[in-house]
Amino acid sequence: MMMKSLTGAALLLGAAVLAPVADAQTVPQDKTQVPGYFKLMVGDVQVTALYDGSSTFPLNLFKNASPETLQREVAEVDGDAPKVVNGSVNSFLINTGEHLILIDSGGGALLGPGFGQVMRNLRAAGYQPGQVDMVLLTHMHRDHIGGLVSDDGQPAFPHATVYASQPEIDYWLSAENASHAAPDQQAAFQMVKRTLAPYADRGRLRAFTYGKALLPGLQPVSLPGHTPGHSGFMLDRGGQRILFWGDIVHYSALQFAHPELGIAYDSDSGRAIRTRETLLKQVARQKTLIAGAHITFPGIGYLRADGDTAYRWTPIGFGELR
Ligand SMILES: [Zn+2]
Repeated sequence: MMMKSLTGAALLLGAAVLAPVADAQTVPQDKTQVPGYFKLMVGDVQVTALYDGSSTFPLNLFKNASPETLQREVAEVDGDAPKVVNGSVNSFLINTGEHLILIDSGGGALLGPGFGQVMRNLRAAGYQPGQVDMVLLTHMHRDHIGGLVSDDGQPAFPHATVYASQPEIDYWLSAENASHAAPDQQAAFQMVKRTLAPYADRGRLRAFTYGKALLPGLQPVSLPGHTPGHSGFMLDRGGQRILFWGDIVHYSALQFAHPELGIAYDSDSGRAIRTRETLLKQVARQKTLIAGAHITFPGIGYLRADGDTAYRWTPIGFGELR
């Protein structure tokens, strides 16, 4: 209908406007992404998010939701092909000026192509692995510990002591637990043992205690369910706070609107869901800045309540350090 109303002159005018204004040229496309790091200040402390990689989750990993709910929620944010959802793997560096603390190490060589970029991005951010003196683990899944070890089996952070919660250490490194684990879990127990050995053998694997500060203004927080000793870390410096919450949320487009959705990776699904529901309510009310291991890079932002049981994520913006 519209075409019929156009006159020949208008069509000619359109053609003239669309004509190239310069001779054809070649504009190369550089297919390399910019380095995956992002910096911000939290009080007097500098925090750097480090990108390890990203991939997709099949929707059938999510529990307690009808296929219709999953399709509807994901289609809203991911377009017309909601069969899979994107997730990234993020680690975080805390530079206090006296300590360089890495929270989780990324997957190293354990997650396959596209992952294991934490080390490269740490260097790109201006640091050296030898400067890291503490590695804090939220938990011991391979996407959080794989980067601890270099290709030749040595500690990738040669001067670092690795810290995890006592329940997490007990769960994964107990020979008795490993021997009683289901056959499909055996490989995970072996992986944890092998990955932590370069530190444990040198006396550089230690447990932290909930309620006791690791450093002034840096507290471990018990957030169990995803794994038995899953933990977060609250940094509170100069009146500003950020909570590094590990795997409380795997996919922001689903689990903020539906905190009741579990994921197949949870070792205790009910407990993981209760922990998420309680924490989301608390951090939304307290307006706590969040740093998440699997929220789209850099994984830092705020939550606000959207009704009684749902939440919305507002990512932090890019800007100068203040
Ligand atoms: Zn994870």
